[in-house]
Amino acid sequence: MADNQSAVPPAPQDLRSPLWLGWLLFGICLLASVWFVRQMAAFGADLEHRHGIGLVQTAAAVVDAGDVAALRGDPDDLGTPAYESVRAHLRAVLDANPEFRFVYLMRPVGEGDQRFLFLADAEDPSSPDYSRPGDVYDGPSENLGKVMDGLHPMFSEVIQDDWGEWVSALAPVLDGDGRVLAVLGIDMAYEEWLDAQSRYRNFGILISVLVLSLVALFMLGLHLQRRSSLRLAQAGARLAQQVGALEAAQEELRLADVVVRHTSEAILVLDPQMRVLRANSAYELLTGRRASEVVGTLPHAIQASPELRERAEAGILDANHWEEEIELTRADGRKIPVGAIAEVVRGRGGVVEHLVLVLQDLSARKALEERLRELSATDGLTGIANRRSFDEGLVREWERALRHGGPLSLVMADIDFFKRYNDHYGHVAGDVCLQQVARALREGVRQGGDLVARYGGEEFVVVLAGADAEAARAVAEHLRRRVEDLALEHAGRPPDGGVVTISLGVATLYPAPGLEPGMLVEEADKRLYEAKGAGRNRVAG
Ligand code: GH3
Ligand code: MG
Ligand code: MG
Repeated sequence: MADNQSAVPPAPQDLRSPLWLGWLLFGICLLASVWFVRQMAAFGADLEHRHGIGLVQTAAAVVDAGDVAALRGDPDDLGTPAYESVRAHLRAVLDANPEFRFVYLMRPVGEGDQRFLFLADAEDPSSPDYSRPGDVYDGPSENLGKVMDGLHPMFSEVIQDDWGEWVSALAPVLDGDGRVLAVLGIDMAYEEWLDAQSRYRNFGILISVLVLSLVALFMLGLHLQRRSSLRLAQAGARLAQQVGALEAAQEELRLADVVVRHTSEAILVLDPQMRVLRANSAYELLTGRRASEVVGTLPHAIQASPELRERAEAGILDANHWEEEIELTRADGRKIPVGAIAEVVRGRGGVVEHLVLVLQDLSARKALEERLRELSATDGLTGIANRRSFDEGLVREWERALRHGGPLSLVMADIDFFKRYNDHYGHVAGDVCLQQVARALREGVRQGGDLVARYGGEEFVVVLAGADAEAARAVAEHLRRRVEDLALEHAGRPPDGGVVTISLGVATLYPAPGLEPGMLVEEADKRLYEAKGAGRNRVAG
């Protein structure tokens, strides 16, 4: 899961789509907001204009035209009922609208004169802004003139005069015949006018900010949702990858399990204390013990291995692999040779996790080896030891005698006139004869001690460990007689036939440094030759 496992899988492309749509929406909303704020400001200005004009028109319409006509436009108007009436009207307008600074009534100074004089205003006479009737207005009078001439109300642009910066709503006061008697004006300080307008702009800004905030929140939500979707997709892809790796590992485990279950080799899985965790069916077959019986125990295979048992007891597993041949006792008590292969399974940091013990039944192999060994040491025709086996046996006994001292004797025997026997009876019969002679020789010596071997053809040798010359001669004589006593007819024996006999040469040496086993063979051969020469069927030595 692999390292390969650590690479983050690519996110699905559709989730990586850019947020340009969101930004476009935000941009559009921003532009719309600017437009909206402007619109709101313009709407506010327009509304305030209408409001001002409406107020001034109403004020001009409801002022008593008779009273206005009665005003002469000089200080003598003060105290007259017409003046007081007009002034009360102007004051009522001012009081009802606290944002107004001046409410006044004006008339041109004279016929064709562009200047205007005050008929009345709403100011208190104690106010520095108060204008007495007849006071000539010393600010710009173009707007007043336009209203006088055009008979229409209007709203002025910002005006700079002695009282500061203003905006004015002006309306004509008409008599019953529609003639202009005066101009009624309402002034508002420009700052306050701006404040009134900015309320609309601020409202527009507030709405825009709210909308933009909503859009921004929407985008943020969209972004977060995309991001979480992306992470979710990545996590999903990673999970899928891990699930895939797990499935692959599971499949591997399943296959491993199949192998362990069905292999012909007995397998034990042990914990670090070498207690059995699992045993397969081949183990049950091999040992005759049920897996359920051995789980949790120290397996017999470990008990049979001194090295593994020692390590198990000491808790030391410093190597990773052992191979050992052990003798395993089956449940039925039968002992079988077993090849044990131990593999240590280590985890992170080299900590021992498991020990896997594979046991192979070596019985068949051992039997085969034994058979091969026997075959390689045995003469095929006679069943006694062959020449190779004799050579090894002679050297072995020679060395033993060298170590422990004492004599070593060798008897060499040869069937007399065997060529003729073959000629007379045929080779098959010759072979049978060879077998009978070999058997007589084998059974004529100390069983398990003296070695009888076929030296070649119809010649035999007997190795007599620890026998001196006399004892060896006695054995040789005994053998000679045994063969003779077989009474195997030998019609071809000169001069007139007889039985099968052997001639024997005996040699004895006390092995010592400087001497060699071959000397014993040469000597025995020489003696045999002597026995032949002396008439056969005899022992020489
Ligand atoms: P001697 O008394 O001098 O030994 O006479 P001999 O005829 O035995 O002479 P020699 O030892 O030279 O002859 C050996 C004969 O043994 C020759 C061969 O025909 C026979 N022979 C050797 N090996 C075998 C065998 O495996 N089977 C048979 N049937 N005959 C064998
Ligand atoms: Mg011979
Ligand atoms: Mg012979």
